[in-house]
Amino acid sequence: MTIDKQQKPSAPRSRSRLAVCLCECAGTLAEKLDFLAISAAAGRLPGVARVVRCHALCQPGGCDQLLASLKDQRISRALIVACTPAYYRTALEKALSSSNINPHLVSRVNIREHCAWVHPDQRKATEKASRLIDSAVQRLRLAERVGTQRISLNRRVLVIGAGLAGMQAALDLADKKHGVTLITASEDLGGRALQQSVIPEAAERAQQLAKLIKLNRRISVLTDTTLQSLAGRFGQFQAHLLQDQIDCGAVIVATGQSQVTGPEQLAPITGTLTFDDLARMLQANRLSNLKRIGIILDFQSQLDRAATRAALKLASRARLLWGCETYLFCSHLRVSGPDLEQQYHQARQDGVVIIKSLSCPQITQQITAVRLKGTDEQTHREFDLVLDLLAVADVPQTNNGQADLTTKLRTGQPVDGSVQRDNVFLLPVDSGRKGILFAGSCRAPLEWTQALDEGSAAAEHAHTLLKDSATRAPAKLAEVEPAKCAFCLTCYRSCPHGAIAMDQENSAAVVVPIMCQACGVCVAECPAKAIELVDYTDSQLSISPASPGAAIVFACENSALLAADRAGLARMTYSSDVAIVPVPCAGRVDPVHVLRALQGGAKKVLILGCHDQACKYLHGINRAKARIDRLQSQLTELGLDPDCVQIGSLMAADAGRFVNFVTGDLQEITT
Ligand code: SF4
Ligand code: SF4
Repeated sequence: MTIDKQQKPSAPRSRSRLAVCLCECAGTLAEKLDFLAISAAAGRLPGVARVVRCHALCQPGGCDQLLASLKDQRISRALIVACTPAYYRTALEKALSSSNINPHLVSRVNIREHCAWVHPDQRKATEKASRLIDSAVQRLRLAERVGTQRISLNRRVLVIGAGLAGMQAALDLADKKHGVTLITASEDLGGRALQQSVIPEAAERAQQLAKLIKLNRRISVLTDTTLQSLAGRFGQFQAHLLQDQIDCGAVIVATGQSQVTGPEQLAPITGTLTFDDLARMLQANRLSNLKRIGIILDFQSQLDRAATRAALKLASRARLLWGCETYLFCSHLRVSGPDLEQQYHQARQDGVVIIKSLSCPQITQQITAVRLKGTDEQTHREFDLVLDLLAVADVPQTNNGQADLTTKLRTGQPVDGSVQRDNVFLLPVDSGRKGILFAGSCRAPLEWTQALDEGSAAAEHAHTLLKDSATRAPAKLAEVEPAKCAFCLTCYRSCPHGAIAMDQENSAAVVVPIMCQACGVCVAECPAKAIELVDYTDSQLSISPASPGAAIVFACENSALLAADRAGLARMTYSSDVAIVPVPCAGRVDPVHVLRALQGGAKKVLILGCHDQACKYLHGINRAKARIDRLQSQLTELGLDPDCVQIGSLMAADAGRFVNFVTGDLQEITT
């Protein structure tokens, strides 16, 4: 296996003056670190113009004073050597905003939680601090100044779907003085809420909202219309509709519950009803001569609280109105919502018999009735009931329309009937693609009041993004070198945030800065090595802070780096041979960085990132795992030990897990 020579650390780009700013943590680390030795070693490093010592950066005015002193000395690059940036980041960012130092020319090293507090031996902790400073200075010398650019924003919002969530979002946005285009594939406003017989309040509310929308001059309604395609970027999207084109700054998707399967799948029995059928019969008070009825809730799929509420309501109503024996069959009752526990007790008081069993009762058709047989899991008693009527809850399914829509929006494929990916960073209404939001039951099965709340939440989020007619954003975060680009679309497909556009004219990929979240996934995926990530270039990540025989940890800044900080705060100890290289995401780590670290003498390389559904960049950790799996196979083929490279997942709070990984007590791959 060879490493591309082009990826060797390149020469520093700038001769600008660089200062190492050494915070003494108010004297609290004097016994743990030899500051004189650290300061002297830093002063001897190539490219370091000054070593500035400060008493306590985190104290009021600490960052301002530091930057003022750097200005006097015409410093343009600064390495802050201190504790975890959590203690001073906000103050530093504020001070930087009024200084002449570009934020991309400032870097940080944590010698308190990563050295002083985790390595009891002062000499070893001091040596490691110097190594970390050395490698950070080399990386900072390669850093590039990045300016900002003005991005114009169209304040109009396109809302797709005119059910409860979509209509609420449109009205809230109009209240905040946004132009809104509300489109629906139906003939009129209201969506499924209008057909709600089980919860008539929902239908009533839908009618009220529809009236308000028709009177609102800021909202344009287009019925019988669907989205054909979406081009552009956040702030300047172009939505191509069936017979129209809309320019807008953001899109709210509120297409409602996905397609549902009726009762026939579970009970292919003549006359089996849906909940809506049963509600209509109760409303009309038909069939009052029934003796015994049954309601089946959740054997086809786990159902939400809305279905539970509907089942309990219908059972109580039937019991009281018709006076018939009423059985509710379920595997679980979810009663955690408002008043649901009360509704459950009410149903019991009304005489509804609730039968719980893990598997669906055996259902057979009789001439004019339905027979259900099974065992109640709680009483362990068998039941054999002949029912005059059976109603079964609908089950949401992923439908082709959803998949088609998310493909057009570039927000990833629907999962389990939800258009939103299963990731904590997206909750409650985000999509991962800036400017595209989800609301209502297209995202998760919701009760009607929750759908209204989500409409408002999405509107608030869109307003936050588009409250002004322009914003400022970094001029570049990741950049494609067109001459190297093979136009293979790998980056287009792998970017978790839909931030890559394909420039057909120049046959090259282009990163759209306002959409880019600087994760670096595309950089590591690009087979032509045509993309670079500002602040984390291949050259910068190839600089190792390790001594020979040491272990290198590429630590995701959203999880592993924070876990390392916590390990320090908790005074956990591990070998000073462990050196941390911060990365924005495990997905940024390229096998080349791993090989370079091994070539440089590291005995082990760890890549530590987030858990799958907590990855800030959605699938960065999974991309990294696939790459490291391939690398381990290649190492095996070469007769090398594949275990010298490992990848693992942890959370920011997992200090113990971090220490277990770096001490070798935890080796399983847990992505
Ligand atoms: S992955 Fe690399 S080579 Fe392929 S299109 Fe993107 S930039 Fe070009
Ligand atoms: S750095 Fe991340 S967000 Fe930016 S273009 Fe590359 S993959 Fe997309």
